[in-house]
Amino acid sequence: CQTPHRHSFYTAGDRDLGVGKTSIIKRYVHQIFSQHYRATIGVDFALKVIQWDNNTVVRLQLWDIAGQERYGNMTRVYYREAVGAMVVFDVTRASTFEAVLKWKDDLDSKVTLNHGRPVPVVLLANKSDQLPSHSPKLDTFCRENGFVAWFETSAKVRPVTRRAALKGLDASWSFL
Ligand code: GDP
Ligand code: MG
Repeated sequence: CQTPHRHSFYTAGDRDLGVGKTSIIKRYVHQIFSQHYRATIGVDFALKVIQWDNNTVVRLQLWDIAGQERYGNMTRVYYREAVGAMVVFDVTRASTFEAVLKWKDDLDSKVTLNHGRPVPVVLLANKSDQLPSHSPKLDTFCRENGFVAWFETSAKVRPVTRRAALKGLDASWSFL
């Protein structure tokens, strides 16, 4: 018998729009990418159904929030019942990295799991097709600031293409 599990995940970005939250979800759920910029208004929802194993289907409900809400109190509503969150920054823009801890603090202050444990938060270093993004400093950053993990992501190109494109480039993010 299959046990459906309902999970909610949230993505959050920066005061500067356009880190790629919507693009990551579109790629993950619909396998598409668009250059076309259309800012999210309020919140969008997406559902990814994952056949986890023979006994488990995960219904991953993604809440894609616009980004400005940290300044109001709407995030409290969006975060309710969340079991995990992703904070996204754009590796080409230092200002978006500077906002990461503000989002982490916003999450920690407004939502917890049962028993008061913090909601697990993953950090996504997006647009990694644009810049080589190996950075051991992010391991330390995540440990010190309570992120469970970080990943380089690109909503635009697939990992193999990205590695080929970046081969030979040796720069790192200037702001890390
Ligand atoms: P959001 O405001 O955080 O939801 O950002 P969007 O998903 O709307 O993306 C903003 C812009 O960045 C769009 O023009 C996207 O095409 C572009 N973009 C998003 N992800 C990537 C990526 O991984 N690589 C590149 N090169 N562009 C991206
Ligand atoms: Mg968006």
